[in-house]
Amino acid sequence: MQISKPPLALQRDLGRLLRPDQVSQSLPDRLSYGRDSNSKAILWVRHNRLKYPPDVIVWPESVAEVSRLAAFAQAQGIPLIPFGGGSGVCGGTWALRGGIALDLKRMDKIFKVDTREMKVRAQTGVNGEILERQLKRRGLTLGHFPSSIYVATLGGYLACRSAGQFSTQYGKIEDMVEGLEVVLADGQVIQVGDVRESPGAFDLKELFLGSEGTLGILTEATLRVHPQPETDSYLAFGFSHLEKALAATRELMQRGLVPALVRVYDELDSLLFTSGVDGSKDSYLDLLSRLMKPALRWAKDASFKIALKHASWVKPLLEWLPTSCLMVLGFQGEATLTSAQARLAREICLGYRAKDLGEKPGRYWLQHRYSVSYKLSPLFDEGFFADTMEVATTWNNLMPLYRAIRKALSEQALVLAHFSHAYEEGCSIYFTFLAYRDSEESSETLYDQLWDKALRACTEAGGTISHHHGVGVLKAAYMRKEWGEAFGWLCNIKNKLDPKGILNPGKLGFDQGVKREA
Ligand SMILES: Cc1cc2nc3c(=O)[nH]c(=O)nc-3n(C[C@H](O)[C@H](O)[C@H](O)COP(=O)(O)OP(=O)(O)OC[C@H]3O[C@@H](n4cnc5c(N)ncnc54)[C@H](O)[C@@H]3O)c2cc1C
Repeated sequence: MQISKPPLALQRDLGRLLRPDQVSQSLPDRLSYGRDSNSKAILWVRHNRLKYPPDVIVWPESVAEVSRLAAFAQAQGIPLIPFGGGSGVCGGTWALRGGIALDLKRMDKIFKVDTREMKVRAQTGVNGEILERQLKRRGLTLGHFPSSIYVATLGGYLACRSAGQFSTQYGKIEDMVEGLEVVLADGQVIQVGDVRESPGAFDLKELFLGSEGTLGILTEATLRVHPQPETDSYLAFGFSHLEKALAATRELMQRGLVPALVRVYDELDSLLFTSGVDGSKDSYLDLLSRLMKPALRWAKDASFKIALKHASWVKPLLEWLPTSCLMVLGFQGEATLTSAQARLAREICLGYRAKDLGEKPGRYWLQHRYSVSYKLSPLFDEGFFADTMEVATTWNNLMPLYRAIRKALSEQALVLAHFSHAYEEGCSIYFTFLAYRDSEESSETLYDQLWDKALRACTEAGGTISHHHGVGVLKAAYMRKEWGEAFGWLCNIKNKLDPKGILNPGKLGFDQGVKREA
């Protein structure tokens, strides 16, 4: 792999702003920071050809250092790319034009936990699991449990508007924020959103939440916290059709129930999940891997490769499988509220003639809830690639969106989906797709084709292209389509805040609409 040499003067200049151990231009560091957890980046690593390493990595330890770095980058016109845990899946940290990777993980202080006002103030480099563990010691929880909690940082959550597994009760991360500290492109440090400072006025923090490092660097946040739940209750139901399971979910939400967890699995995902619950101590993606093993043996004589290449043959076969759709529900909080809600939820689901499956599937989910996502990577070892796509829409549009994206993908990939993060107005859909890798070039081409088809189908069917993974590079081309004329206004704001376009260039589709200062 040929990686061009970075400008040496950059390390020298940055050495004037930071200590030597806070700056690196070593090749291993540059390669490590030239990717995130996006599946195409995983393909690049496997094909030994990472494309977008930064020129230099810096580890600031204070907001004053971040401010000096931003002012330096703006003066020199050098890209500055905020980097949290690198668990993003949309290419949000790729250094498309080289520049400085700004790793915030040394800014990980938890300043204050206020048990009276129920708030925590922390630096954004703090790891999600560590933050949650510290809160738990004080009998509290943020209520934010993304599958990437062991890897991701608070800054990455905020920059991508992340959703945890219990978002239906606690909200997405943006619903938890009271205030933010932001470093702008010119090095100015601003505080936004604190209710005491702007009662009833504009709430500027909304602008920076989800801005993926393109409008400012988030260095500190104040978040609402909750008491650790006294108890929890898990329920599961089998529905004869996906539509029925979704109708029951809608009724649950619109009648005012507040489940922490709602997951409805489509037929194939239900099959995989329930086989895991019934038959093994492993997660259901272990089952997928196990199912894949004989398939892989079969693949050696090419038939399975052919089947996946023409995945449309597989779909009708799967539709013959006798299966129902699984719903898993979880309630948590005070015992009386939890049991009352669980009772009503059961009544609603039985009204749809669902089969009561007891608490076992929910407990199984709880036990395996973090391991599932990491099971995709071994599939790459076996010659496949896999990825996930999360979209959302309103209830009336949910099945048409589901069908449109499935149709777009299933000509060339095996597709499964579950519905989670439910609201009164609608719900998100989380697709997993799996395809066979023929060669380096063809697998990357197929990857791009699949995403292009799926995103086009999503926008045409009126869905939103991102519920919680963000946009990054992966979905950038579809921003204008989704936002329409309002995207021009977003570009004007970007122009104003970052006139030289140094903040995370190439992300969120801004480069197509931003005028640059000479
Ligand atoms: C196995 C796995 C499971 C996942 N599960 C979930 C899930 O359940 N829910 C979910 O929401 N997501 C999930 N994700 C996606 C990912 O973990 C989230 O997007 C997470 O919020 C990214 O955090 P990070 O610290 O790793 O950010 P990074 O990947 O480092 O960065 C992501 C983006 O945020 C920007 N950024 C990072 N820090 C800052 C900052 N301080 N200021 C400004 N911009 C910044 C970066 O420039 C980049 O554009 C999962 C990913 C994986 C690999």
